[in-house]
Amino acid sequence: MHSSGSPQPPIRQMSGPLDSARIQRPFLWAPALVLRGGRVIDPTQGMDAPADLVIRDGKVVAVGPCLPLPDDARVVEVQGLVVAPAFVDVHVHLRDPGFPEKETLQSGAAAAAAGGFATICCMPNTQPPLDTPERVRDIVERARGLPVRVFPIGAISRGRRGEELADLVGMAEAGAVGFSDDGDSTRSARVLRAALETSRLLGRPIMVHCEEWTLAAGGVVHEGPVARRLGLPGVPAAAEEIVLLRDLELARVTGGWLHVLHLTTARGLAFVRRAKRDGVRVTVEVTPHHLLLTDEWVAGVRRFAGEEEVQPPGPCPDPNAKVNPPLRPEEDVLALRAGLRDGTIDLIATDHAPHHEQDKPSDLRRAAFGMVGLELALPLLLRLVHAGSLTLRELIEFLSCQPARVLGLPGGTLRPGSPADVVVFDPAVPWQITRETLRSRSANTPLLGLTLHGRVLLTIVEGKVVYGDTHFTDRCTGLGGRPDLSGYPIRGAPQR
Ligand SMILES: [Zn+2]
Repeated sequence: MHSSGSPQPPIRQMSGPLDSARIQRPFLWAPALVLRGGRVIDPTQGMDAPADLVIRDGKVVAVGPCLPLPDDARVVEVQGLVVAPAFVDVHVHLRDPGFPEKETLQSGAAAAAAGGFATICCMPNTQPPLDTPERVRDIVERARGLPVRVFPIGAISRGRRGEELADLVGMAEAGAVGFSDDGDSTRSARVLRAALETSRLLGRPIMVHCEEWTLAAGGVVHEGPVARRLGLPGVPAAAEEIVLLRDLELARVTGGWLHVLHLTTARGLAFVRRAKRDGVRVTVEVTPHHLLLTDEWVAGVRRFAGEEEVQPPGPCPDPNAKVNPPLRPEEDVLALRAGLRDGTIDLIATDHAPHHEQDKPSDLRRAAFGMVGLELALPLLLRLVHAGSLTLRELIEFLSCQPARVLGLPGGTLRPGSPADVVVFDPAVPWQITRETLRSRSANTPLLGLTLHGRVLLTIVEGKVVYGDTHFTDRCTGLGGRPDLSGYPIRGAPQR
């Protein structure tokens, strides 16, 4: 597992006979795992075709149609299923240390594996916050042995108070892959400027949550007709856009690398588009929920943006639809989709934000912000594919290839020689979202009770099966002993 904190590009396959002998000898007896006949989608190789994928020693060794099988191959038949580079999430809250009732490194990693992710980056708004090299190193060390890779993100400011720059250099050396005061904006523009200057030296992004704290104070949902109807205090879109403009300007004057977390408004998108055109070094993410859900969901009206069909209603108001930044009106949601297509938005990240039921009382003023996302990203985004506004290949691009490429993390490709980080999913199978079907320790999502389509069946990290859907793996082992997965630790049905 890569954990040095200086992400390397995936290792290419060695070609010389001396090299291959030297590399393969210690692993001579490791069996090959073959995923046979799936629809392999790998944008990094321009590939979308039926093919076999051969994995050995934790790496992809071959991908192509009708490959000869190694003698020792364990074969899994995946006809009709999608095989792709496993997903990479640069924005996850694991609540560890500090809030084990919400999530831990272990439960969050299990949720990630079940969602098809091989690599996740965890945000520093823990208790205590990840604002020192020691605390960053603690995550790196405790992440060893988890089913997925976990890379910590360090705080920008000490105690996340926005007043003093934290030790970014020390945290980078300890393994931080980026820096963020996520959950809040960095209050001091002077501190953010210093962070952006440091980012030039470190080559790591300054990941900003844009929210003007005096405008947002007390607000619980998007300021607009829905908030007025429910009599709830609103957060205006301007609260996000004002700080976004500030941060884009600071990126311009410093030449530092700004990464905008969870962009939500059409105007903000226009600001980013202009900044990119002007050569500002800025990357942008959007969440699946801001691409699919509108502020009507807070009122229990469960209609996905751009769709006619209305789903069975949820509670009104729905505390699980309270998220920061808030769900926005449909015109913003549709603008974000256009931003994905025209390349203004670089990648999709879940902002997985687990909360215990007690933190989500029906009084929205008292409910915590956030929703779980790791296990719902795929079925949510597949709605865009089924509606024709995103291709399956683009979905893989934004959820796997781009996050790995932008942050310089392992994975995001099935090129021979790369780590065998693979997701196998059925894009059409329906499943109901319930507390029992989620592996996260928390189930705070406004999708509870709904049936979505598309489910992860296998997640493989560095050649090891770290998640297997029980129905699928039962079917595998029931097929006349064809696929023998006994050397791989397949996990059972979701348990709580
Ligand atoms: Zn967040």
